[in-house]
Amino acid sequence: MKKLIIATNNQGKVKEFKAMLGEYYDEILSLKDVGINVDVVEDGETFHQNSAKKAVEISKLVEGDVLADDSGLCVDALDGAPGIYSARFSGENATDEENNAKLLQLMATQPNKKARFVCALVLANNGKELLSVEDFTEGTILDSPRGESGFGYDPLFFNEEHGKTFAELSLDVKNQISHRARALRRLQQELASRA
Ligand code: IMP
Repeated sequence: MKKLIIATNNQGKVKEFKAMLGEYYDEILSLKDVGINVDVVEDGETFHQNSAKKAVEISKLVEGDVLADDSGLCVDALDGAPGIYSARFSGENATDEENNAKLLQLMATQPNKKARFVCALVLANNGKELLSVEDFTEGTILDSPRGESGFGYDPLFFNEEHGKTFAELSLDVKNQISHRARALRRLQQELASRA
């Protein structure tokens, strides 16, 4: 009986991960399902370090594999910022609107609008990292927000192929092209090759 615990409290992510990894596990549970309420401090310097710490720490508390993710927006003209600080770009407990306002202000004078969303995933078991993958999706930062769906920097992140921001795309389409979807497909490949 193979069990996977997803180390996030974000129900949207739980749903996405369940859909993508269902065939590799008999049971997939969230932290809430297993009654764990811990806050692992994200003090790494990379997306991989942060997700590895979460996965490894939580895997010491439960039986089964633990999957953790860390993601963020990296903007070329800002030397990769906000990067691992994406959630708290304009300060601790910043809202998406505040973070987007800071990004708009910094980008106003920058001619290079290239950016990417990055996602690192780490699978751990019993305090040990089992495997890790990372992937990204590219886009450009707009001068003003567009669209109502999604979260975070979605209204400012423009995808050339679809001619829309991530906040204008349906969740179905976003979940096919996002950094998380790409990283999850890599994880599927790794799991399939180890099966
Ligand atoms: P987390 O790794 O899911 O906690 O994401 C960290 C931060 O990166 C979020 O608070 C967002 O600001 C940003 N972020 C990550 N993924 C996305 C996305 O798909 N759309 C918009 N913002 C994102």
